[in-house]
Amino acid sequence: MARYRAAVCRQCRREGIKLFLKGARCFTEKCAIERRNYPPGQHGLSRTKVTPYGVQLREKQKAKNIYGVLESQFRRYFERAERERGITGENLLKLLERRLDNVVFRLGMAASRRESRQMVAHGHFQVNGRKVSVPSYIVKVGEVVQLRPSSKMAERAADNLAAGRAAVPPWLEVDVNDKKGTVRGLPMREDIQIPVQEQLIVELFSK
Ligand code: SF4
Repeated sequence: MARYRAAVCRQCRREGIKLFLKGARCFTEKCAIERRNYPPGQHGLSRTKVTPYGVQLREKQKAKNIYGVLESQFRRYFERAERERGITGENLLKLLERRLDNVVFRLGMAASRRESRQMVAHGHFQVNGRKVSVPSYIVKVGEVVQLRPSSKMAERAADNLAAGRAAVPPWLEVDVNDKKGTVRGLPMREDIQIPVQEQLIVELFSK
C-alpha cells in the first residue's frame, strides 16, 4: 500500500493552513504552522507570483493531503465522481469522505486520518461484522463500522472518543460504549468541513 512518507507538517506549511494531519500535536504550540508559517524549502520565504493554474493545483494537493490519497488514486476518485450523477466536485469530496479510514476518524475513534488509516490497515475494524483492512473501502448507507472485539486498540479508541476533538457529522451515528458507528445516510456537501474549493479541482482536471 503506497503512502506519503516525508514529513507531513511540510504539507501544511506548503498550503499555509493547518490540515490537522498529526492529531493532538496539531493543537499544541509545537505545530509547525504556529512556529514557521511559511512554505518549506530554500525559497520558502521569498515571494512568488501564483498563477491560476497554481491556485487550482494547490486545491487539488490540499484535498489529496487531507485525505492521505496519492495522485493516481485521487485521479480514479475523480473519474468515478465524473461518472456519477450530480456535481462532479461534490461527488469527489463525498467519495473521499466515505472512505473507511475517514469514517473511523470522523467517528472520533482515531486522532487523525493517518492514525485511522493505520488502525484499519492493521485489521482493527469490522464492517457489518466482517473484518475489513482496506482503508479505501467506501462505506454504504446502513453499514456498521465497529472496533473488533479482539482489538488491542480499545483503550486508544476510547481515549480518542473521550477527547472528542471533532464533532460527528449528521450522516454518521456513534455508539461510544460499543465503539461503533452507523452510516445513517450519504454525506452532504455542507457536512464536509474542509477548506477545499472542489470546483478548482474540476477545472484543473478538465484542462
Ligand atoms: Fe499540520 Fe498538525 Fe503538523 Fe501543525 S502539527 S503543521 S496542523 S500536521
